[in-house]
Amino acid sequence: MDAGYPPLVAEIFERHQSVRAQIEAAARRSGRDPGLIRLVVVSKKQPVEVIRAALSAGIRDLGENYAEEAEQKIQALGVVPGLRWHMIGHVQSRKADLVVRHFDWMHSLDSLKLAMRLERLAAEAGRRLPVLLECNVSGEVSKFGYAASTPQQWEALAVEARSIQALPHLEIHGLMTMPPFFEDGEQARPYFRLLRELSAFMAEKVPQARWQELSMGTSTDFSVAVEEGATLVRVGTAILGSRPPNA
Ligand SMILES: *Cc1c(COP(=O)(O)O)cnc(C)c1O
Repeated sequence: MDAGYPPLVAEIFERHQSVRAQIEAAARRSGRDPGLIRLVVVSKKQPVEVIRAALSAGIRDLGENYAEEAEQKIQALGVVPGLRWHMIGHVQSRKADLVVRHFDWMHSLDSLKLAMRLERLAAEAGRRLPVLLECNVSGEVSKFGYAASTPQQWEALAVEARSIQALPHLEIHGLMTMPPFFEDGEQARPYFRLLRELSAFMAEKVPQARWQELSMGTSTDFSVAVEEGATLVRVGTAILGSRPPNA
């Protein structure tokens, strides 16, 4: 990047390029088309100045976890052409309106109650909302998402997905997962593989929906996730740097 850019913009630009290059390498290793993998830069807890630097570095897919924090930032930034916001965190039903108002993608749909709320609000807003079903394939108790670690739970999820699929203003596009945290990303591989298998199961059981997207992989394990079929990776600290401690 040219000299003359603020150092933060140059740093983010270089880290973004480096992550992209690693995604491309991982895609080629596994015989996949790198063009089908979208990199979502996670800006949760980052101040607006860092997001502005990310925009100057050319980033146009941003992920946020907290609806109210995101709304403040989105309003502060104003209209940015081509910018897409991805909701990747747990959303309480009473905050569903913030998702419909501000977000292009909802990765973390985890209940029929929330789906019905989003449906009503999307209908009122005259829009359709692309959604992914967040799945907890590890069985770890602390995680959000649909329980999806036993065959019975997979069957139950297919029933739930049929109900969501029937909502005319929501479009199911696939699945999302957040595996347990490991220092070594390789250890997340079995969970990414399980999500891919669950996606094939859903495609068979609920063929009316599209199941082509797999949102998986963070700073520590995105290369492994790409090798296992990720189409959306969610990378924060490896691009924007560490998040400031809670104010
Ligand atoms: C924070 C977060 C990420 C990004 O994590 P990093 O370690 O910063 O890359 C991705 N997905 C979800 C759901 C998150 O909460």
